[in-house]
Amino acid sequence: MKILLSLLFLFSLNYGFEYNLKPKKIIENVYCFFGKLENISKENAGNIVNTCFVQTKEGFVVIDSGPTYAYAAQAYEQMQHIAKLPVKYVINKHDHDDHWLGNSFYKDKGALLIGPRTYEENTLSGMETRMHSTLGDMLFAKTKIVKLDMIVDNNFTLKIADDVFEILQPTKIAHTKGDLIVYFPRKKVVFTGDLLFNGRLTSLRDGSIIGSLKALDTIEGYHADFIVSGHGYDTSKDATKQFVSYLSEIKTKVLNALDNDVDMDEITKKVSMPAYKNMKLYDLLHARNVLDAYKELEMIEDDEE
Ligand SMILES: [Zn+2]
Repeated sequence: MKILLSLLFLFSLNYGFEYNLKPKKIIENVYCFFGKLENISKENAGNIVNTCFVQTKEGFVVIDSGPTYAYAAQAYEQMQHIAKLPVKYVINKHDHDDHWLGNSFYKDKGALLIGPRTYEENTLSGMETRMHSTLGDMLFAKTKIVKLDMIVDNNFTLKIADDVFEILQPTKIAHTKGDLIVYFPRKKVVFTGDLLFNGRLTSLRDGSIIGSLKALDTIEGYHADFIVSGHGYDTSKDATKQFVSYLSEIKTKVLNALDNDVDMDEITKKVSMPAYKNMKLYDLLHARNVLDAYKELEMIEDDEE
């Protein structure tokens, strides 16, 4: 028992946190880990995010590397149970830190890191990340911020063995100012990152409601068989439906309110949307989303006048 306990202790020193990652197969060669529909906390150690990996003949392509070094190390361990192959590329879809702090693990393993320009602009500032300050040094152990090997500005086709990955920034601003979509045509899977949430609400704080709806249009335009979001469990071809109606309803209601000269300090009371109350984080994020939409749409209305 003593030996077991000390082994467990050593294990936790090495890896910071036991994430218990279990890959879910989306379709042959395509797997994802699904995070909890929560905010970041010490209890979940940042496991609130979806990350995926695709097996090719030459190695794995990882799509988003997760919240910590330990998370990436444990994800890699799971990949090796599926096939003893190296990770060749990590594609980062945007710069929010729940999605890419596993990068330094893969860099150590020799993978090439790909991502949007905003990753370089926003992650290399030297500021402590929200993840680090929430988790503390122990859970964050070994996690480092590393540079990308390749920046994608508009679009890029990544070829590996006989597979291709189409990487596209659908619009200048949507969830952030640098969101990439990854499409894997062989299996008709589209990885949306945080351009799509399901089961929980998004935050519009760094983005745009107009851009978000435009990006969702692009995503639906792939007519994919599987749509994998940045947060949420629905991977069906209809996975965008609820999210599109949530954003569209905010947009319609806020535009209506602007037409009726509703003030900014009244808007969150006016635009309640009880149909979405069962979505996780509604109480935390909905009012703020309405306010962000108001600020954006008010500017557009002003420009038009
Ligand atoms: Zn996210």
